Amino acid sequence: MIMEPLHLTRCSINTATLGHREPLDVTIDRIARAGFGGLAPWRHEVEAADVNRIARQIRALELKVTGYCRSTYFPASTHEQRLANIQSNVRALNDAAELGAQCFVMVVGGLPEGSRDLSAARTQVRDGIGAFLDEARKIGVPLAIEPLHPMYAGERSVINTIDQANAIARELDPHNDGFLGVAVDVYHCWWDPQLETAIASLGTDDRMLAYHVSDWLVPTTDMLLDRGMMGDGVIDLKRFRQSVEKAGYAGMVEVEVFSRDNWWKLPPDEVLQTCAARLQSVC
Ligand code: ZN
Repeated sequence: MIMEPLHLTRCSINTATLGHREPLDVTIDRIARAGFGGLAPWRHEVEAADVNRIARQIRALELKVTGYCRSTYFPASTHEQRLANIQSNVRALNDAAELGAQCFVMVVGGLPEGSRDLSAARTQVRDGIGAFLDEARKIGVPLAIEPLHPMYAGERSVINTIDQANAIARELDPHNDGFLGVAVDVYHCWWDPQLETAIASLGTDDRMLAYHVSDWLVPTTDMLLDRGMMGDGVIDLKRFRQSVEKAGYAGMVEVEVFSRDNWWKLPPDEVLQTCAARLQSVC
């Protein structure tokens, strides 16, 4: 299968890629100037600005918002805290709607403090998403469960594979009215022996809501902040895109590179130029 080179209008920049070093309005202008078709902002940036003004800026520049990052973790050691976490997510979902976000990215949380009960945490996550889904329907923003690499199961996410995320979506939303799906991030999923079949079933179920790219560096020196630029690591990104497109995904390709000691030290415009070049050569 010959892959069409990606056009930048189909590509989006997750603002974490630029290291959150500038106010969001400056970042948005840079992303638009560099020719990208979209962005994925973070709550702390939007909450530090005026959401209405940011939304107007995004609309004026005709950028798509490929995701709003991200949910407050669901698991907690008390019922009150779990409810508070859901309330926090409802507030963020209203901002996501204002921004016209294509999905709200759900990083679901790891084990509650002091717990070793992984299956209980997974049940809390399922129940938390279940309690939140009707709000998402009301507010009109789809929820994208993002499975994270299993190295994060302790502190960030007890959902670790595409199949696991899709199983929750099927259970909570068997008829799929478009408000619960999965965000596929190559960094988190590339190692999965079931990857191709998992992506194919996401496609069959029409649940793939986002596609995030970066690369896995060898060696990786920090489990959170040492992601690679596409092409600098070991993920077969063209083959990955081939699988998601074969599964029917026609949405945007979002670059999400957390790189404290490398890309976050370079001038933002240089990072954006490199993203553009790599998206068109290795993705
Ligand atoms: Zn991601």
